[in-house]
Amino acid sequence: KSASTASVVSTTCPYCGVGCGIDVHIANDKQLTELKGSSDHPANFGRLCVKGSKLLETNSPSGRLLSPMIGAKKASWEDAIAQVATKFNQLIAKHGSDSVAFYVSGQLLTEDYYVANKLMKGYIGSANIDTNSRLCMSSAVAAYKRAFGADAVPCCYEDLEQAELLILVGSNAAWTHPVLFQRIERAKKLNPDMQVVTIDPRRTATSELADMHLAIKPGTDVVLFNGLLAYLDNHDAVNTDYITANTQGFEQVINSCKPWTLSQVAQQCDISELELHSFYRLFAKTDKVVTAYCMGVNQSTSGSDKANSIINSHLATGKIGREGCGPFSLTGQPNAMGGREVGGLANMLACHMDIENPEHRQTVQTYWQSPTIANKAGLKAVDLFDNINNGKVKAVWIMATNPMVSMPNRQKIAEALTKCELVVVSDCVAKNDTLDYAHIAFPASCWSEKDGTVTNSERRISRQRGLLPAAGKAKHDWQIICDVAKAMGFENGFDFNSANEIFAEYAGLTKADNQGSRGLDLSGLCNMTETQYNRLKPVQWPVNKQYPDGTKRLFTDGKFYTQSGKAQFVLTDFAAPEQLTNTDFPFVLNSGRVRDQWHTMTRTGKTSELSAHTNRPYLAIHAIDAQRLALKNDDLVSLSAAHFNNKQNRVLLPIVIDNNQRQGEVFAPIHWSASNASSANISALYTDANDKISGQPELKHAAVKLQKV
Ligand code: SF4
Repeated sequence: KSASTASVVSTTCPYCGVGCGIDVHIANDKQLTELKGSSDHPANFGRLCVKGSKLLETNSPSGRLLSPMIGAKKASWEDAIAQVATKFNQLIAKHGSDSVAFYVSGQLLTEDYYVANKLMKGYIGSANIDTNSRLCMSSAVAAYKRAFGADAVPCCYEDLEQAELLILVGSNAAWTHPVLFQRIERAKKLNPDMQVVTIDPRRTATSELADMHLAIKPGTDVVLFNGLLAYLDNHDAVNTDYITANTQGFEQVINSCKPWTLSQVAQQCDISELELHSFYRLFAKTDKVVTAYCMGVNQSTSGSDKANSIINSHLATGKIGREGCGPFSLTGQPNAMGGREVGGLANMLACHMDIENPEHRQTVQTYWQSPTIANKAGLKAVDLFDNINNGKVKAVWIMATNPMVSMPNRQKIAEALTKCELVVVSDCVAKNDTLDYAHIAFPASCWSEKDGTVTNSERRISRQRGLLPAAGKAKHDWQIICDVAKAMGFENGFDFNSANEIFAEYAGLTKADNQGSRGLDLSGLCNMTETQYNRLKPVQWPVNKQYPDGTKRLFTDGKFYTQSGKAQFVLTDFAAPEQLTNTDFPFVLNSGRVRDQWHTMTRTGKTSELSAHTNRPYLAIHAIDAQRLALKNDDLVSLSAAHFNNKQNRVLLPIVIDNNQRQGEVFAPIHWSASNASSANISALYTDANDKISGQPELKHAAVKLQKV
């Protein structure tokens, strides 16, 4: 009888962008017995939220996809890989490289993302690889690029604690970034002078901590922040030295903002002039200000402009690049950042290089020694599914995401996947709404098995370590991608034996022809041995000669990644949401998360303990609206949206009367779908409306009507 063994492995939580470190106790190399927050991980210092603390309960083998599937039949890896490779090659030969696409996920590890991007952009020769991160933070990316010249998050989590004024815009951090919120709560307790302002049409759990809550009319954020810029200028609260030394474009932007008076802003945002003035005065007089923003800003047809209007306010006051200051986008997913670093978005190359830039293309192709390189942006998520629908994209490989539930316009996604000649899905679960459309399904390893790195909201790269061998016949996503690449005939670029080999190649690419013009520099992490990679401590990029231990915050020297080295003010004109209410569809539908569920519930839905907080989908409505429609708690209502006045797009939900809603607005959680609660898939009510710059869909503002069932 062999002696029992025990070990503790440090890894990261696979849910939100906080990126908490977790220590897992393993018995006999096969049983996960206990889990705790890592006390030395700089994201959480031992804390975990309820989702993270229940990871072991949701890690059961039940419901796993354990074998490759061709149709409804189990298949060998060889057959499944061969069929995918052959079909991809045939379609590319006949219709060109843009006839195929990948739709990937912020749940993939950086190494998975890297090889998927390499295969599509460097070997297939198309940029048709987009990600569900498009739905999450692409507007924040676009805004950073426009202002700073690179997708570079200026702040770190400590800034949230060091701020004297913390503004949370479109963020219910108490539920969506719980550990970060715990850190903010503690900071406020230690420093009662710290002011917290929440800006959100709904009063949420996050607003409970706030000294001021501005329940602005949905979609009016640009007005609020353009008005702030005008106020700052009128009250000599701009930092002219900083503007002159470190920025460009202020004059044009301030001239466009000047017409916004307090009363006009208050009227447009539908808040009182008094509370607006208090907020503006607070911003003007406070030295250390962080504005953290999330989906309420990003998921909008003007998400990029909203984010830039926030950034403009920080540039105008020099509240950036120092402790407790800066505009700070919070990412939703654990590795949305890692994905965008290696080029997981259709409009980016790799390592923050630009597809449109011939020198960047040359750098990447030379480094990869690849046969080709994509020379134009690929299809962003909404356009991608449009092009599957119109037959231009004939094969799609979906990895670690469930677009049937998460994308807007469910009906169109269903039509597209039905028409598509080849739908391949890689996932760790055996059943979800998207897998129903798969011709071929690849079993992927899950959280406790995957090995690689992720990057959290503060640019911190952490190791996610494999705790157990992959279940059944499951393989890591990077292995599946490399197998398909090799079967397509691309032997040379995909001969990786470990995640470390992929990371080493990626880190090397970040330094190729990088004269400091791209912030993403991992030259200090190149050439790690397997042991060094395994022992890698969480570290914030850039990591290079100048910053061997990583970099807490960016732009401390006032230098940006633009050609001039100066930050750019960006003109941000107010534009109303696209899905507007009218007499037939009088309610604004807002959407978001509940505290203890994650995405489409394929994992968090596995344990009843996480359902205890909110055990069913619902529609929150203000009491006055409910009274007007003669609705009471638990009444079932049918929701239909302005652009989908047909049965398929109706959603049935029970009413919850909740005066934290503004009148005329309703809120429903995003998690439920046909798989777990028929007719409760709220994204079915949102149209394809998306931000013209970022392509991020408007998932917070649909026009709906309610009918009692
Ligand atoms: Fe996981 Fe986010 Fe909770 Fe941390 S805050 S334990 S990363 S879900």
